[in-house]
Amino acid sequence: MTHRKPGLAGLYPEEIAETFSLKPFQGRQIFHWIHGRGVFDFAGMTNLPLALRDRLTQECAGGEMTPAKCQTSAGSGTMKMLFLLADGETVESVLIRDGSRVTVCVSSQVGCPLKCDFCATGMGGFRRNLEADEIVGQVLHLLKEGEIPRDTQPNIVYMGMGEPFRNYEAVVKSVRLLMHPDGLNIGARRITVSTAGEVKGIARFAEEDWQVRLSVSLHAANDEKRSRLVPLNRKFGLDRLREAVREYTQKTGRQMTFEWTLLDGVNDTPDDVRELAEYAKSLHAFVNLIPWNPVSGLPYRPSPRARCVAFQAGLARAGVKATLRREKGADIDAACGQLRATHHSGQ
Ligand code: SAH
Repeated sequence: MTHRKPGLAGLYPEEIAETFSLKPFQGRQIFHWIHGRGVFDFAGMTNLPLALRDRLTQECAGGEMTPAKCQTSAGSGTMKMLFLLADGETVESVLIRDGSRVTVCVSSQVGCPLKCDFCATGMGGFRRNLEADEIVGQVLHLLKEGEIPRDTQPNIVYMGMGEPFRNYEAVVKSVRLLMHPDGLNIGARRITVSTAGEVKGIARFAEEDWQVRLSVSLHAANDEKRSRLVPLNRKFGLDRLREAVREYTQKTGRQMTFEWTLLDGVNDTPDDVRELAEYAKSLHAFVNLIPWNPVSGLPYRPSPRARCVAFQAGLARAGVKATLRREKGADIDAACGQLRATHHSGQ
């Protein structure tokens, strides 16, 4: 669904040069201003001739993201931003600081069509795909707003709103823009794309000539339970998913990660440990355990901390490496779709 021409932040240097009939090096200069320095205003692009700066200012709006709402978590330094897009839609992104480690979590769609049972984004329905510039723009804005020094390499996770593999082209282009040597130059291994299990997207992703990481949101390792939590499982069950992941790891030689959001009494039992361990081991996968971030109106509770720790220990005993994320930013609605939900309900 294309709603407008791609903005400047969604163009490669050669596309910028072509769009404005410029010399290739000028395309690279403009690209560097936007992606390398976060400058969108042509007037500030001091190495361009004045006449060109004037012309570009008249012909083209810079395309900077417009923040509609920002929440900062006092203790953790986590910052959550709701952006207002040109057509009035909103998406959210999060900047997470952990010591010197910086992670930006971006959205790939406005809303989400997948409607996972415990997720706030799904409740709001699906609106449209994001363009590449709207994805990259989230990163540029948050790095600037968070005053992240230019020599800090951030990690980027596609774990905000939306299903990245239902917006494949724009997501892949945004990844390439983030990795571009004239721009942020982010290392491929620092970027993770997360899918709820779109097997065709996983197959396409395996063909990309890069080291970008893949994460699959599993949440249950038996079909009956997973179909309840992640309705997409009714289309691509665990066997097909396993096949797709196996092909991906064989083709790329890379390990991937399963995400598992821990829900009290739902997917945190010894049976779940056993099923997950078996599934993950057959694929040599890592596991990332995420405490569920409460969403009002949903009939779930986060697993108590002790159970999360026991779950992780159970996996370790079974020979599966798992990380357990500390909860960051529950006080700022820092889970998928929550800020947008409160914004639209007028809270
Ligand atoms: N659609 C993609 C990416 C976006 S969701 C996917 O499913 O992977 C990113 C991750 O956040 C998924 O693992 C999702 O299940 C999880 N998630 C969604 N809502 C959550 C919540 N309230 N608390 C914790 N994790 C949540």
